[in-house]
Amino acid sequence: MTLVVTGATGHLGRLVVDSLLERGVPAADIVATGRDVSRLSDLEARGVQVRRADYTDRASLDAALAGADRVLLVSSSEVGQRAAQHQNVIDAASAAGVGLLAYTSISNADRSEMALAAEHLVTERAIAASGLPHTFLRNSWYTENYTGQLATYAEHGTVLGAAGDGQVSAATRADYAAAAAAGLLLAEPKPVYELGGAAFTLGELAATVGDVLATTVSYTDVPAEELTKVLVGAGLPEPYAAVLADADLGLKRGDLFVPADDLETLLGRPATPLADAVRAAA
Ligand code: NDP
Repeated sequence: MTLVVTGATGHLGRLVVDSLLERGVPAADIVATGRDVSRLSDLEARGVQVRRADYTDRASLDAALAGADRVLLVSSSEVGQRAAQHQNVIDAASAAGVGLLAYTSISNADRSEMALAAEHLVTERAIAASGLPHTFLRNSWYTENYTGQLATYAEHGTVLGAAGDGQVSAATRADYAAAAAAGLLLAEPKPVYELGGAAFTLGELAATVGDVLATTVSYTDVPAEELTKVLVGAGLPEPYAAVLADADLGLKRGDLFVPADDLETLLGRPATPLADAVRAAA
């Protein structure tokens, strides 16, 4: 069975390829795609097929998906262009007659009001309309969105957010990747998986970070507009800062909350606890 993983030059796609190899999938059965295949040369050296695929270049997608039995479409990082880019992949997958199209979506894509969710919903609907057998891997937030900021939290003694007491079912990229690999290999994956770990509030995140770093870290809740300003002041481009603040409002509404069952089922174990992820990052 030939399994194509797109976005393999990125964090998640790379971890999915690693997980497929760990599960014993023969390297020659895996196709890792990316825009710059020189960044996949180590996988090629291990026997993985490496093919160039640009979501904006339909011909490259047709070549990359030729002979594919199953495809994992890792959502593009180019926010605002994703719906059109993903449509190209869906069309190529249809032309190739793939037996399964898996897509990394976002939690509660069909009811989430987060700005980031809109393109995911468009993509899910396009996949459904294609008639291809499919599975939506609706990932909640990455724990790394937080653990990547440990130095900032420690420096200011605070986690700044606009999420109130909203809970986020964050999980590590490695867990989402392992779940995606497991889902790709199931005979009949479910149409939708809501994937996430044990939920926590940003207050609980602050407490966990404080415990692990042996320092005082508290949570400071501010209005979304203020969070945007602070992030812009810290050097983020305004549209990106606004998307992050909007995501915190989503978190407050529960848009990124999901039960832990689906991730546990695919992993065959509980997700990595937050404290372990913070400890590993520290
Ligand atoms: P990365 O940014 O590490 O990887 C994104 C991948 O998408 C890269 O391989 C990148 O290729 C590829 N890509 C972007 N544009 C194109 C294109 N035009 N054609 C082909 N490939 C393209 O993100 P992650 O791996 O960490 O996450 C995967 C996806 O999950 C993200 O792209 C985003 O949609 C989403 N995400 C989810 C988050 C969450 O908390 N749940 C947080 C952040 C993102 P290249 O290496 O060439 O740039």
